[in-house]
Amino acid sequence: MNSVRAYAASSATSPLAATTIARREPTDTDVQIEILFCGICHSDLHSVRNEWSEFAETQYPIVPGHEIIGRVANAGSGVTKFKQGDIVGVGCLVDSDGTCGECEAGLEQFCPERILTYNSPDRHLGGVTLGGYAETIVVDERFVLRIPQNLDLAHTAPLLCAGITTFSPLRHWNVTAGKKVGVVGLGGLGHMCVKLAHAFGAHVVVFTTSPEKKEDAMRLGADEVIISRDANEMQKHAGTFNFILDTVSAKHDINAYLGLLARDGNITLVGAPPEAMGVAAFALIGGRHSLSGSAIGGIAETQEMLDFCGAHNITSDVEVIPIQQVNEAYDRMLHGDVKYRFTIDMASLKT
Ligand code: NAP
Ligand code: ZN
Repeated sequence: MNSVRAYAASSATSPLAATTIARREPTDTDVQIEILFCGICHSDLHSVRNEWSEFAETQYPIVPGHEIIGRVANAGSGVTKFKQGDIVGVGCLVDSDGTCGECEAGLEQFCPERILTYNSPDRHLGGVTLGGYAETIVVDERFVLRIPQNLDLAHTAPLLCAGITTFSPLRHWNVTAGKKVGVVGLGGLGHMCVKLAHAFGAHVVVFTTSPEKKEDAMRLGADEVIISRDANEMQKHAGTFNFILDTVSAKHDINAYLGLLARDGNITLVGAPPEAMGVAAFALIGGRHSLSGSAIGGIAETQEMLDFCGAHNITSDVEVIPIQQVNEAYDRMLHGDVKYRFTIDMASLKT
């Protein structure tokens, strides 16, 4: 076992603070990674504050972080894909059974035995898995991703969650040129969705509650921006959207968006507010609309997304912070004050 520096929260109401945690000795198929950057996802905040207690009770202490970029410090003797010094990524998944139908379909995120990067049972050390706000992490090579060499590392970390979580439903719902696509909420996930949908050739419309984000949205690749609190502006688009990705982290009115769908249009929720949200039957049945959800993406698709981003030079817009500012960053994220993802420079953990 190795003892390494990390940031953890000891309860739902404690701030994240410096601590040390144990990492396992790498097995033959493990990759030991020195973490260089870790993005801050809103799921980190939901988890640290135990906001999802009904669905995934947080076990404390929690070390969050699942947008990890690092350098291979050591590769086990049976590791074939990576060698010491390689730049690699780790997202939300670190293990699965590898044999069930979901794994065979490349959908490890739905494997009943899947292990998340933090707050899942740790089969090696007992307790729960601890995430990327740490000096190192040890991960089976099946869950380690290659990072395209042309991408800036601090800006690439958020692709490991925000990137794949938006890429996967855009692909699943066949977003291509000629489609009219809405993105609800311009935060970490939302801004990645704008960039990817734009790269797929779609007509992209951003719905935001923050008028001051309008110019940024256009720069990021939106064709139109709608201030979602303006009912008149919303009404002008009724019945016109093929697909809408909803990334909002708090309870809101989905029916307002269902009414904007064209016939057979779909809204996919990736935002995960803890509270239930009501759906009006007539908002669905009129145009054969559908409402669905999506969770991150499988490992092969995550690699496909990274390669796509490498080929199209797509990364996240980030504000790089030292880990000592993580609690302030959480509060700013909660108030929509992030452009558009915080990434922690993990070198700060040593200071
Ligand atoms: P984020 O950066 O905080 O962005 C969320 C955005 O939602 C905000 O920037 C804001 O955009 C909008 N918003 C926030 N509160 C709102 C409210 N009360 N009403 C209307 N709009 C509001 O968060 P994120 O990291 O992108 O994550 C978004 C959600 O996705 C979180 O719930 C997270 O847990 C979830 N998530 C799910 C998956 C998955 O696999 N399904 C993966 C990662 C994250 P505007 O200022 O533009 O309105
Ligand atoms: Zn995430």
